[in-house]
Amino acid sequence: MQVYESMIELVGNTPLVRLKNVTEGIRATVLAKVEYFNPGGSVKDRIAVRMIEAAERSGALQPGGTIVEPTSGNTGVGLAIVAQQKGYKCIFVCPDKVSTDKINVLRAYGAEVVVCPTAVDPDHPNSYYNVSDRLVRETPGAWKPDQYSNPDNPRSHYESTGPELWEQTDGRITHFVAGVGTGGTISGTGRYLKDVSDGKVKVIGADPEGSVYSGGSGRPYLIEGVGEDFWPTAYDSTVADEIIAVSDKDAFQMTRRLAKEEGLLVGGSCGMAVVGALKAAEGLGEDDVVVVLLPDSGRGYLSKIFNDDWMNDYGFLETGDTDRVADVMH
Ligand code: PMP
Repeated sequence: MQVYESMIELVGNTPLVRLKNVTEGIRATVLAKVEYFNPGGSVKDRIAVRMIEAAERSGALQPGGTIVEPTSGNTGVGLAIVAQQKGYKCIFVCPDKVSTDKINVLRAYGAEVVVCPTAVDPDHPNSYYNVSDRLVRETPGAWKPDQYSNPDNPRSHYESTGPELWEQTDGRITHFVAGVGTGGTISGTGRYLKDVSDGKVKVIGADPEGSVYSGGSGRPYLIEGVGEDFWPTAYDSTVADEIIAVSDKDAFQMTRRLAKEEGLLVGGSCGMAVVGALKAAEGLGEDDVVVVLLPDSGRGYLSKIFNDDWMNDYGFLETGDTDRVADVMH
């Protein structure tokens, strides 16, 4: 019988798919690493496994312990699955801009979710960073993975995502593009690809306009899971050769095109990363192989990016770009 003993064994080894329609006018090969094939539906399953197993080894997480983490959802899903399979409890702290769909998913896996306001300073007592610190202090047996400073976050990518890409492209990858949130993906994967290629692979970050990585002040934007208003230690600023800022509008329009034209129902940070990848690919030649990492699925954004009314409220749809005609005819 071909059987996996646990969903944990299904983390990683995600497929690489050629983008062929949104790449009009680009000569380079552009490939997408589709992370929604992970069991929790995102790239974050990789860091969940690695951070929990390292904490078990160090003794920071004891049998029956509780995992407490501020997370925008995807890290929570990964942690919730691994925790459930290993017998730990989970409490997650989310900013209020996170979609209810994502929060309901966390609760479905049996986790407790605490929602905090986005529009307060990181040092405010109700900021999601501070609320999670307080929960760690007050919960017996609590352990906070802290994906923002945990070296096992970038390390999981150095040991899985990076080697997978090198193998899947037969060492032909020339450019790697990823969105930057905690910075774990770009730092770990990028560092591995630079090490294995003697520095030849170029690493490019994509970042929401307004976030600190691309020189912003940390002002709000709508793309979820990426960009920061502070510099996390999981981010190694010596890895990326370039950071490209992408607007909410460009990111979301590309997200919709990926579903319509490439059959990829993915999240907003994926559209953002693809906009960055296409900018990076401009002017490259036929021998160049650009890989863009798509962190999650579009299922958590159906009432936002894939909803015409929501897109129109923010002025993100061009005239003639809506699917409204069908509604009018009813
Ligand atoms: N996209 C989404 C949807 C995410 O949840 C995250 C994780 N915060 C990222 C991109 C960025 O990944 P990283 O934290 O490794 O930089």
